[in-house]
Amino acid sequence: MIRENFKVYKAIIIGAGASGMVASIELGKAFKGENIALVEKLSRVGKKILSTGNGQCNLSNANISSENYHSLNGEFYSYAIENYGAKSLIKFFNELGVLTTVEEDKIYPLSKQASSVLDALRFKIESLNVATFLDSKVEKITKDDLFSVYLSNGQVLKGENVIVSVGGKSASHLGTDGSSYDLVTSFGHKITKLYPSLVQLKTDKAKIKGMKGLKLKANAKVVVDGKVIKERDGEVLFTDYGVSGNAIFYLSSYAVDKKCEISLDLAPSLSTEELIRFLNEKKNNCSYLNLENFLSGIINNKIASAVLRNSGFDLSNKVREVFVEKIVKTIKNYTLEVVGNTGFDNSQVTKGGIDVSKIDNVTLESKIVKGLYFAGEVMDVDGDCGGYNLQWAFSSAMAVSKSIK
Ligand SMILES: Cc1cc2nc3c(=O)[nH]c(=O)nc-3n(C[C@H](O)[C@H](O)[C@H](O)COP(=O)(O)OP(=O)(O)OC[C@H]3O[C@@H](n4cnc5c(N)ncnc54)[C@H](O)[C@@H]3O)c2cc1C
Repeated sequence: MIRENFKVYKAIIIGAGASGMVASIELGKAFKGENIALVEKLSRVGKKILSTGNGQCNLSNANISSENYHSLNGEFYSYAIENYGAKSLIKFFNELGVLTTVEEDKIYPLSKQASSVLDALRFKIESLNVATFLDSKVEKITKDDLFSVYLSNGQVLKGENVIVSVGGKSASHLGTDGSSYDLVTSFGHKITKLYPSLVQLKTDKAKIKGMKGLKLKANAKVVVDGKVIKERDGEVLFTDYGVSGNAIFYLSSYAVDKKCEISLDLAPSLSTEELIRFLNEKKNNCSYLNLENFLSGIINNKIASAVLRNSGFDLSNKVREVFVEKIVKTIKNYTLEVVGNTGFDNSQVTKGGIDVSKIDNVTLESKIVKGLYFAGEVMDVDGDCGGYNLQWAFSSAMAVSKSIK
C-alpha cells in the first residue's frame, strides 16, 4: 500500500534468521512479497542456519513434547508446537523441494547440508519478491497509527504489523549479541534473566585433574539438592575447564540456571552389584597388582587414578587394602560441582528472553501493543538439544503468520 508517498508494508520482519525467513515466506504467499519487508543487520540472510547441527542442520525431532521446552511461563509454547510441529515443518520443507531424514529421532535435510536448507528458504523469499534489506540493523521501533522501523542506514520503514525475530544473545558472531531485546522494552515488554544454554559446563577442577582430552560414554545426571532432575546417556569429554560432549550439551539446559552437580556413571554398562562382584574377584585373583593397575581394563587409566584418589586411596596402597564398595560408589557416582559455563558466545541458544506473560500464546501478538508480534528464540522459550530450537523458530513463525490478517 502507498500512502502519502511512502510505502506501507503489511508486515515488517526484523531479523532474517530461521523464524524471520519462514514468516516472510508464509506472509509473502498470503499478501504478495512486495508487501512484506525482511530486515537483516548482517550482509546475508540466515547465516546461523549454516552452523546448525555441525553444518548438517538438525531441523527438528521426531519425538517432541512440551517437556522438551523451557520457559518461566508454564507451557506458553504448547499451542504453536502442537499446531505446527514436526509434520508441518517436514511438509513446509518438502514444498520447498527439501526431503528430510530421521537419525535417532533427529530430523535433518536428506542432503545433510545446512546450506541446502538455507538455499531453499532464500530462493523462495527471492521468488516471492519479499522486500529484503541487508546490512540494516533496526535501531528503534515506534508506533502511532503505523509502526516506524528505523534502520542503521537512516531509512525508516512504515508497517501495519511488526514481527520481532531477532534471536537471542548466543553466538554473537552470527548476528545475535543480545542488543536487540531493547527494541521492545520501550513498549513496556520485560526481559527475563538470560543464561547461555546448550553449552559446555565449568566444574571444580580438582576432580578432573589429568583427565583433559579424555572422552567416554557415560550416564550423566544433573543433581540439585541431592535429587536427580535429568539424566542422559552419551558422550562426555573432559576439558581443562570442566566437561563437554553431547550428553553435557543436552543436560546444560537443565543446569545453567541452577546450583547443581553433574554426576557421572563412569561404567554405565555394569550394575553396581556386577562391578562389586567383579572387583572383589579381581582383588583376590590379582592381588599381585599395584593399586594403579587395579581398575585397568575396566575404565581408562587416567580416570582410574582420579577415581582411586577420590575414593580416599593413594597409589601406595596395596590392592588388598582397598574397599571395593568405596571405589564402585565413586565410579557409579563421580560428582562434579558445576561452577559456570563457557558463556553466551559458545552457547547455541539463550535461556530466557522477552517475558511471554505479555504475549498471546496463540497469536504471539503483544498484549501491550497491537500489531507487534514475536517469533523464535527472542522470547523466553528454549528447547533441548536435538532440533527443538529450530522447530520452535518454525512453529512460532507459522503461528504468527497465521495470525496476521
Ligand atoms: C552453532 C549453533 C548450532 C545450532 N544447531 C542447531 C541445530 O542443529 N538444531 C536446532 O534446532 N537448533 C540449533 N541451534 C539453535 C538455532 O539455530 C536457533 O535457536 C535458531 O536459529 C533461532 O532462530 P531465530 O529466527 O529465533 O533467530 P536467529 O536464527 O538467531 O536469527 C536472528 C536474526 O536476527 C538478526 N538481527 C538481530 N538483531 C537485529 C536487528 N536489530 N536488526 C536486524 N536484524 C537483527 C540476526 O543477525 C540474525 O540473523 C544452533 C545454534 C548455534 C549457534
